[in-house]
Amino acid sequence: MSKIVITGGAGFIGSHIAEKLVSEHEIIIIDNLDDYYSLELKRRNLKLLLANPNVQFIEGDITDTDLLRRVIDADVEFVYHEAAQAGVRISVEDPFKPNNVNVLGTLNVLKASLDAGVKRVINASSSSVYGKVKYLPFDEAHPTMPVSPYGVSKLAAEHYCRVFYEVYGLPTVSLRYFTVYGPRMRPDLAISIFTGKMLANEPITVYGDGKQTRDFTYIDDIVRVNRRLLDTNAADGYAMNVGGGHRITVNDLIAHLREITGSASEIVYSDKQKGDAEHTLADTSLAEKLVGYRPEVSIREGLGRFVAWYRQHR
Ligand code: NAD
Repeated sequence: MSKIVITGGAGFIGSHIAEKLVSEHEIIIIDNLDDYYSLELKRRNLKLLLANPNVQFIEGDITDTDLLRRVIDADVEFVYHEAAQAGVRISVEDPFKPNNVNVLGTLNVLKASLDAGVKRVINASSSSVYGKVKYLPFDEAHPTMPVSPYGVSKLAAEHYCRVFYEVYGLPTVSLRYFTVYGPRMRPDLAISIFTGKMLANEPITVYGDGKQTRDFTYIDDIVRVNRRLLDTNAADGYAMNVGGGHRITVNDLIAHLREITGSASEIVYSDKQKGDAEHTLADTSLAEKLVGYRPEVSIREGLGRFVAWYRQHR
């Protein structure tokens, strides 16, 4: 049984990683329960996890250097770093907060992990580091030209991870997640918003013409690759894509959700939002080569599971 720290463990992805690992490991969650979205959702996530005596919750901020030094002590073997100010649009409104949390916060996590002799830090990065599309699918050699302050902050955090590996010898891996969805997902993301509106038969707002494409990744695929990184050092020093392996237009996403929910919601097209990427699609061959990652859940299957969860829980 290893001692594992999960920053942001009350959130969507962190709570799923914790849930997966809790039967085999001692988990310490650090999360400041920020008010970016409903606290009720995070409290529910925590309630589920804290039912297990292997989980400890520390309410605190990753920008608090002393706290991190206390929590990431010499007994901690692995750190999953999921805490962030997520969200592209909020970063356009306030670029300072993502910089503070995602860059300085990550630096704190890395320094505390280095000092404690942690075996590996697994850092949640994002497809937003690519930004401007030169070609698709994005492989890791694709230029990184973020189109939002959020993307810039995630790219800076990734570089710190690489430098801590190359310069200080701290094993780190950055996973470039491509729009993650599934039960307990963030309510600010399109799949969750559209599902809620459809089930209430309310109009849906699409920013742009709906022809923008996204590679959506089901949460179970994300959790699997994170779990795998406890057992292998093959990806140390790398930043690698973790995507769903296919892309669909927002219009097709809506068509799938309409069929699954049986909704007749009207679609209202509105202006494109600043900071939104035009297209994303992951080439996942590096992750396959290094750690055997292959996405397993198709978009249709994943949406079906998400809508079933939504009907029951929201
Ligand atoms: P989330 O907002 O659900 O989870 C993040 C958690 O971090 C929240 O519980 C929040 O309270 C916590 N947090 C925020 N600021 C903090 C701080 N200063 N100190 C301590 N805790 C703090 O987001 P998520 O969707 O689970 O994302 C997890 C990670 O994955 C993030 O790093 C995000 O940038 C990255 N990511 C997510 C997606 C996606 O589609 N969900 C895509 C790409 C990358």
